[in-house]
Amino acid sequence: MKILDNLHAFLWEHPMANNCNTYFIDGFKKILIDPGHYDFFSHVRDGLAALSLTPEDMDVVLVTHGHPDHIESVRIFADMKALIAVSQKEMDFIREVAPHYGQALAVEDFEPPILLREGDLQLGDVSLQVIESPGHSPGSVCFYWPDHKVLFSGDVLFNGGIGRTDLPMGNGEILKESIHRLAGLDVEYVFSGHGEPVTGGTAVQQNFQEIESFWFGYI
Ligand SMILES: [Zn+2]
Repeated sequence: MKILDNLHAFLWEHPMANNCNTYFIDGFKKILIDPGHYDFFSHVRDGLAALSLTPEDMDVVLVTHGHPDHIESVRIFADMKALIAVSQKEMDFIREVAPHYGQALAVEDFEPPILLREGDLQLGDVSLQVIESPGHSPGSVCFYWPDHKVLFSGDVLFNGGIGRTDLPMGNGEILKESIHRLAGLDVEYVFSGHGEPVTGGTAVQQNFQEIESFWFGYI
């Protein structure tokens, strides 16, 4: 699904199996965000094929956080040119808690060539901002694309919801702070790790308001 001129979404709509949404920025550098579960990578492969592209064409794979349904497919890119980018804090978390996930995560011994921290991230002609947004997982990051007022929110917040805080090292109070901070950005589109996008500045603000007035009462 084409969203903007150079932005495509491979939304996961399977009614039974869990996997994340994947996003693809088709710029001077080809950027994939959250490649998803290893077993479901054909979803991404098919999405790229529809654009006459393959995983081999990717330059960078950005990962919002280390849960298997977002990160597991980094293994696909092990022998390809794509550079994998994960936050430093999330890599610490992956190594600390990976044993609790058993084999499902299976990336604990992997060393991403790019370790992300809060700040600017220039990838070819695409200027992103990395925003550290802990709470759902301790090293979660969101990617903000000011040129298009796009927020890739991972599992921090969704259309009508927020990320779970009951997973290892989740923290509701910290998640609230992260969301409150994101609400201050100038955003026209929220593309989250699961569910439908939020489009339009008014809808985005309403979504933040509903989250703060309703969902904050539950965490
Ligand atoms: Zn998650």
